[in-house]
Amino acid sequence: MSTPTTHDTASWQAADAAHFLHPFTDFQQLAQKGSRIITKADNLYLTDSEGNRLFDAMSGLWCVNVGYGQQSLIDAAAHQMKELPFYNSFFQTTTPPAVELAQLLAEVTPPQFQHVFYAGSGSEGNDTVVRMVRRYWDLQGQPERQVIISRWNGYHGSTMAGASLGGMKYMHAQGGLPIPGITHIDQPHWLEHGAGMTRDAFGLKAAGWLEQKILEVGPDKVAAFIGEPVQGAGGVIVPPATYWPEIQRICDKYNILLVSDEVICGFGRTGNWFGCETMGTKPDLMTFAKGVTSGYIPLGGVMVGDRVAKALIEQGGEFEHGYTYSGHPVACAVAIANIKLIQSLKLVERVRDETGPYLAAQFAKLNDHPLIGETQTCGLMASMQLVKAKDRGDGHPAMFDSALEVGMLCRGHCFANGLVMRAVGDRMIIAPPLVMTIAQVDELMGLIHKCLDLTL
Ligand code: PLP
Repeated sequence: MSTPTTHDTASWQAADAAHFLHPFTDFQQLAQKGSRIITKADNLYLTDSEGNRLFDAMSGLWCVNVGYGQQSLIDAAAHQMKELPFYNSFFQTTTPPAVELAQLLAEVTPPQFQHVFYAGSGSEGNDTVVRMVRRYWDLQGQPERQVIISRWNGYHGSTMAGASLGGMKYMHAQGGLPIPGITHIDQPHWLEHGAGMTRDAFGLKAAGWLEQKILEVGPDKVAAFIGEPVQGAGGVIVPPATYWPEIQRICDKYNILLVSDEVICGFGRTGNWFGCETMGTKPDLMTFAKGVTSGYIPLGGVMVGDRVAKALIEQGGEFEHGYTYSGHPVACAVAIANIKLIQSLKLVERVRDETGPYLAAQFAKLNDHPLIGETQTCGLMASMQLVKAKDRGDGHPAMFDSALEVGMLCRGHCFANGLVMRAVGDRMIIAPPLVMTIAQVDELMGLIHKCLDLTL
């Protein structure tokens, strides 16, 4: 098949179906429906190959925090491409953008983080976490501490280790996952597990599952606990306020490393620079990706706290791990421009003080809609649960038999009406760019109401 030379939707779709195996996709279904072809974007708005304009309430894939079309990021990439498009950071070499970004990351992350290990994506970042925590315990003379505890319905990526840390059972079902030494506890999802309890009481109970698991595995065998401050891909599940402080207490009690996966929550999404600040924890390691470059170019990594960095550096020996693109100079240059833009536009403060609270107030009003069981927001990430009836008699809603189908129907209405939202299980979720204005929150809410009404 010849490559399409014009923006003819049908020919792009045919070439796409013939040659491109998309991630997380049923290939036959896609071939029948045909891909949606996004050709351009500016600010919060996408344009497709039919000329339709779409409000991107998902920031691409939770990435484009500064919105589309930011000239300073484009210029940084072009400049660095000319200056030095690539050099590696193996074999005692480095590049100015990789060093400058490391310094900047040390400034914007919590004070325990003075070191970064670069990767190319969130998944590679979490693979690094697995290698690094095990190396740490080896260096401590406790090599039997191998087990990493994570949560069902958490998402930590798609590589063998990332998908194993994640708690997506449909991913485990393919490819013999999880890999050894990873075990899961239930997620802190009040509606699913907390019938008859207050949110706060449930938060303590859900954190208690970590302690139970530690005792079951044996405290001297547990290396780390990893979680997203707010589960993103699992459906924007905001944990009760009591959950994370109790998790921190339990990790401290058993001397277990705490890893915060900030791939979605980092770089302002929750109204602080990092989700751990919103949730009140002091992690030992922090995975990042997506928002570090606003998705303009791939970059990920791990912020390494003093406790682990000290062991890696002072106890010596080579850490046998790294990627060709660790510290890629163009990606680092874009990340520097991105972070400086977040700072100069005061995006974190805007999410914390203006758009986040405003979105929360508008989402609270959605609770009156007959299709909505509950809504949750945290900064500029939000979810609404779709239900058949609001109360099944115990204060909890009655679910649809196939909530995903209802969600997909709603999502269909979204696309037809110029809105990109995502359906996850019984939830519709959003994570719009952090440059969203109050007027754009109103525009978004108008679109959401319209799409929900059409789904009724
Ligand atoms: N961790 C979290 C919390 C994520 O949401 C994701 C991706 O959505 C990842 C890790 C994996 O990142 P990547 O897709 O860049 O490998």
